[in-house]
Amino acid sequence: MADRPIILSLTTMHESGMNRLREAGELRMASSLDPAVLHREIVDADALVIRTAGTIDAALMDCGKKLRVIGRHGVGYDQVDIPAATERGILVVYTPGANTQGVAEHVFAMMIGVSKHFPGQMKALIEGRYNDRTKLVGRDIAGKTLGIVGFGRIGKRVGAIAHAGFGMKVLYSDVIDIPREAEERANARRVGFDELLAASDFVTLHVPLDASTRGMIGREALAKIKPGAVLINTCRGPVTDEAAVLEALESKRLFGYGADVYTIEPPPSDHPLIGRADLNIMLTPHSAAQSTESLRNMADEVSTDVVGVLQGKPPINPVNDPAEVAAIRAKLGKPPLDRGF
Ligand code: NAD
Repeated sequence: MADRPIILSLTTMHESGMNRLREAGELRMASSLDPAVLHREIVDADALVIRTAGTIDAALMDCGKKLRVIGRHGVGYDQVDIPAATERGILVVYTPGANTQGVAEHVFAMMIGVSKHFPGQMKALIEGRYNDRTKLVGRDIAGKTLGIVGFGRIGKRVGAIAHAGFGMKVLYSDVIDIPREAEERANARRVGFDELLAASDFVTLHVPLDASTRGMIGREALAKIKPGAVLINTCRGPVTDEAAVLEALESKRLFGYGADVYTIEPPPSDHPLIGRADLNIMLTPHSAAQSTESLRNMADEVSTDVVGVLQGKPPINPVNDPAEVAAIRAKLGKPPLDRGF
């Protein structure tokens, strides 16, 4: 069919989402993430679907002259040049909330795992040093103070679970006003960043990666962190300075570190934090949202939104302002988004 929209996807996803995209248009899988290849393959695409991989910059968008919507399967959209998309009249949609529970549970897996010395205990067991179990003394998390940096969807869920499930004292810092009900669900108290660092037994990061958060946990912040604290990063690698974290672990300023994300992804196998069970480091390969439930939610939400936009419906979860995008499209002489197919 001549007018079936072309959907270029850089990722596979849960079959329910793949099917929705296939029904709505011609679904093409990108053959590589190499920019030169993508520049060719995006030429006649009406929609682009992405996950965490791939840099979606102005140069790529300029090759996609027909592009009207970019759908991000997931939450952080730092790999997309949002201003460039807006300037070209391209809508960006994403899946906020789809993996909130999955990531929140991952945070507790790490908080508990690090507190109970899982890295060292598992290594000792594998290496036949069973009796070393008594050398590594862990801690319970109940009743401890949890500092949440970024009290958004995930931060709030983590706070609510910490309060209800473990009786933790919850502190948070954020840059926006937080509704009182959300604070009450976690019995959370807003504090300044420095106070949070100084008072928390656990610090967990839930901010987007942007200019305000890049490197926010560096040497300066780690010098202020409560001695013996556990640091958890499931948001974005560059929010922490990995070299400074390694120093803080070596000097025992930190009791342990849990991370799902890295400054460079994938991290090289000789990354200094990988394989350091001796420093009580628990790492996963950006897999916090890899639960059946999160994967299905993300696939359903991104495919529904991309297909809806292609069919002329208003976006459900836009990143950029649909009215601004529509106005820019009109100025550029591009077909309106509500034209439909
Ligand atoms: P969200 O937008 O609901 O919450 C982010 C919060 O951070 C907001 O309340 C915001 O005001 C706050 N914030 C922004 N800048 C800040 C700053 N400088 N200091 C303090 N607070 C600041 O997003 P979310 O759904 O909670 O997700 C948070 C981040 O987690 C995402 O941006 C994404 O990068 C990451 N994430 C990772 C995975 C994973 O697989 N590991 C999955 C989902 C999300």
